[in-house]
Amino acid sequence: MGTFICPHCHHTTPVFLAGGVEREAMKQNVPILGSIPLDESICADADSGRPSVIAEGQDASARSQSFRDIADRVLAGLEVFKNSSASQA
Ligand SMILES: [Zn+2]
Repeated sequence: MGTFICPHCHHTTPVFLAGGVEREAMKQNVPILGSIPLDESICADADSGRPSVIAEGQDASARSQSFRDIADRVLAGLEVFKNSSASQA
């Protein structure tokens, strides 16, 4: 949850200090998978049992797309891990 997008004027406000996540990821030697905009509908979607990527259907917003992008990066990372494990066996 890196930013808040105002539902009225769509202004984007950084919620956390700039660069903190990037610095910690480099320090821990882990990739940054993405950032999800802070949005009250994420909680409402989860409470209704329908994650945002499902609740929004084909009308993908930046919010649901950020979840999809993270899922894609996790999947790509798993493929790299799977391939590197297979080549070491
Ligand atoms: Zn506003």
